[in-house]
Amino acid sequence: MKNPIKNKPDIEKRLPGTPARLTVLGSTGSIGVKVLETASELPGGRILIEGLAARTNWRLLKEQAVRRGARAVCLSNPAAARALARAFPGAPFKILEGAQGLETLASAPGGGPVFNAITGIDGLRPSLAALRARRPLLMANKESLVAGGRLLRAEAVLLRVPLIPVDSEHSAIFQCLSGRDASEVRRVVITASGGPFLKRRNVRGATPAQATAHPVWPMGPKVSVDSATLMNKGLELIEAAHLFGLAPEKLSVAIHPQCVVHAMVELTDGSIIAHLAPADMKTPIRYALTYPERLPGGGQTLSLSLSDISGLTFAEPDEKRFPCLTLARAALERGGLAPAALNAADEIAVSFFLSGKIDFADIPAIIEKTMSAVDDQLDGDPMSLEEIMETDAAARKAAKSAARASAL
Ligand code: MG
Repeated sequence: MKNPIKNKPDIEKRLPGTPARLTVLGSTGSIGVKVLETASELPGGRILIEGLAARTNWRLLKEQAVRRGARAVCLSNPAAARALARAFPGAPFKILEGAQGLETLASAPGGGPVFNAITGIDGLRPSLAALRARRPLLMANKESLVAGGRLLRAEAVLLRVPLIPVDSEHSAIFQCLSGRDASEVRRVVITASGGPFLKRRNVRGATPAQATAHPVWPMGPKVSVDSATLMNKGLELIEAAHLFGLAPEKLSVAIHPQCVVHAMVELTDGSIIAHLAPADMKTPIRYALTYPERLPGGGQTLSLSLSDISGLTFAEPDEKRFPCLTLARAALERGGLAPAALNAADEIAVSFFLSGKIDFADIPAIIEKTMSAVDDQLDGDPMSLEEIMETDAAARKAAKSAARASAL
């Protein structure tokens, strides 16, 4: 396989004036809504919206499709797709449904880039479908990169299709690494705000409302809870290892509450290249949408002031208080299918917490129990979609039973 860092995605060269035809998966979620806004703020007519997909929110999907002139939409919940078809007979766009519809939308031949803003493992199959249809993949779907990142990267390298990370830290690493050889990299540091519970001594009894009130980044509920447990950083370590082909020992996390530096790359001569930007997801989204160009946003592109930069602090995370980080690191070091199992266990534990069934403080224990329960399945092949999905299913089952045993 080609050196992944050297494999600069030679994204399709768009002729000036030729608009990209973009498909957005997860367009009604927190990132998806920002993608559409960012695309419409770019200099006139650069991006046409071709396809949109959501899970259940057919009302917003319909509004987006009409306003942006989409040619096809997909609702992965079939009942929601039927509701849209009933409410909008004679819709000027095609309505697809279910997991198969999502893959069809992502793999339409001759389509432009696919922006994957789905939350959870459901984004893995459409991501693979997009790459196999040779459509550039702009990837904000963290869980699929954790569970299937090695497979996705291998496919992207083999087919020479761009795979552009959109998670803010990974967009930062991508930019810091630009043009550098992996052999020049000594260490990559991913920064963390520390989340809403950075200073809270006892997290038992924390409510979903408290856990999702992130101090800096407004985000969807799943990633907000992951930020509160620091599992988000653990998943991001795995994501970085998979995306950039970095060994676990080269990756670390620093608590940086100001959220000004998004990642740092230390080179073998001791130089550190850091990426600084305002804490606004529109920056990495715009970079992915316009790569390899770099364009200003419309109207109000935020700018850092010197006072933002004057008080930067960095500290080691306290893994005793945030054991999810230790669990994620163990899964990264174990390799194989351990990241897929970790991801599934976390998705289940977070969903039980968000629906009020378990205590926030029990999330790490449920993940740990799940990892032990499926231990004999973790040495499988992370390049096999079937094995990833089998392990995902087994870990979900084990996590549900662990969560029920800890139910409030
Ligand atoms: Mg992030």
